[in-house]
Amino acid sequence: MIHDYKFDPAIKDRRRGHGRGRFVVLALAVLAAAAALLHFSGALDGSRNNAELQNPEIPTVGLPADEEQSAPAGHKVSIPLELPPARQTTPAAQPAATPAQPAPQPQVERAERSLLQSMPDTSAEEAVAQTGDKPGEQAHAATEHDTAAMPEMGPRWLTHTISRGESLARIFQARDLSASLLHRIVNSSKTAQQLADIRPGQELRFLLDDENGLEAMILVKSPVESLHIRATGDDFAAELVSKAVERRIASATGTIESSLFVDGQKAGLTDAQIMELAALFGWDIDFALEIRAGDQFRLLYEEQFLDGEKFRNGPILAAEFVNQGKTYQALRFEDDQGSTGYYDAEGRNKRRAFIRTPIKFARISSRFTPKRWHPVLKRWRSHKGVDYAAPTGTPIKATGEGKVIFRGWKGGYGRVVIVQHGSKYQTLYAHMSKFSRAKAGSKVKQGQIIGYVGKSGLATGPHLHYEFRVDGVHRNPLTVKLPKSLPLPESKLAAFKQQTAPLVAQLASVAQGTMVASSEQ
Ligand SMILES: [Zn+2]
Repeated sequence: MIHDYKFDPAIKDRRRGHGRGRFVVLALAVLAAAAALLHFSGALDGSRNNAELQNPEIPTVGLPADEEQSAPAGHKVSIPLELPPARQTTPAAQPAATPAQPAPQPQVERAERSLLQSMPDTSAEEAVAQTGDKPGEQAHAATEHDTAAMPEMGPRWLTHTISRGESLARIFQARDLSASLLHRIVNSSKTAQQLADIRPGQELRFLLDDENGLEAMILVKSPVESLHIRATGDDFAAELVSKAVERRIASATGTIESSLFVDGQKAGLTDAQIMELAALFGWDIDFALEIRAGDQFRLLYEEQFLDGEKFRNGPILAAEFVNQGKTYQALRFEDDQGSTGYYDAEGRNKRRAFIRTPIKFARISSRFTPKRWHPVLKRWRSHKGVDYAAPTGTPIKATGEGKVIFRGWKGGYGRVVIVQHGSKYQTLYAHMSKFSRAKAGSKVKQGQIIGYVGKSGLATGPHLHYEFRVDGVHRNPLTVKLPKSLPLPESKLAAFKQQTAPLVAQLASVAQGTMVASSEQ
């Protein structure tokens, strides 16, 4: 089954992770059994993904050559690798450019060849096979390692793991690939431009012919996503290939005996999931002070699978926490714009609309006053916000979700950002030393960094001047009655109910399961 994924460039990664994979599978089996007991089945959208996965239309680049079993017999890719006769007897140590070697293949033939193949599965191995030799260890070596001193046996894949601080230009140079080639590839299309976005730890694979000509390359961006580029004559075809991720629902449930952390782990949750759970109810429950023995939690979360093996946890989909007899719920909802949030059963956001202060660990240096003496302007002025003294460079966070409506320089404010929250509220952050990436017009989340403390404009020292406006009127940010949470707009409520109803039902069945289990004890 696995070998059907012959185009899968990440197949090697998966094999490497096999040992751990088995462990995960074992753990999963236990979970799955538990889930089955609870009448809990569930591929969320696995079928759709599978359909995509099996779609033979998806053009992909071939595989590294060491995947011998994956090349099916009669696969159309077998490139006519007519090795020049001299080559067959070329000793292994022969240098790359021998004068006696024939001229490179004409351009036309090369182009045709590239179009023919959905991509060369072809490898050194096949090449050797065609010349009548046995595919041997040499062929493997040629694909696994850098092969400056390897025999020339047609196209071969080379793999390079990107390290910190490395640039594409340098990688190309090290491979003896020209800077102009890189330039042409990156500028060949929008998709190909993504090649410039490399990260440490990612893998680059090059398919090089025996003249060190680049036939194809793959940037393995993640276990799921890779960018495939192949030469088509003078041009390049680029394509982003995503592997189908199968999503399943898993559940966990537990009762607090010692702490959320310990009992969360007992319930099979990872540390990250425990943090996520605590954050969901962070506005409802003070987990340091209010948690009690006997409190209960249950949750549904997503598990993501690649080719049948668990690859990571997805988000929590629904959760319930019973704290001192009171039940809190959090349901994940994705609206038609693709933005997600957590809401209670009535559609009220789990987060309060605003956090009180935009920076951590800051001292209030000046409060909201209708009138005060301005030390720089040397006259009486009202102070319509709160000043927080903090070192230059301290991150400033948006106190609520909203949209940046102004980012720029405004007289005495210096560098200032104004965020609009719904139709009623505005927050303003002044004297910044620099802005974050959030430009005017962009949406920001609560807690997202929008800039850094400074003393631009009229300021005696580095501080944040913060204003809170309700319907255009300045209010004291420290005392203004903040809206508890913003409910979903009426227009989204129906979709919310529809999307979360099955989760609520499943959560209830998990709860029931718990009760049955505990009454049997
Ligand atoms: Zn101020």
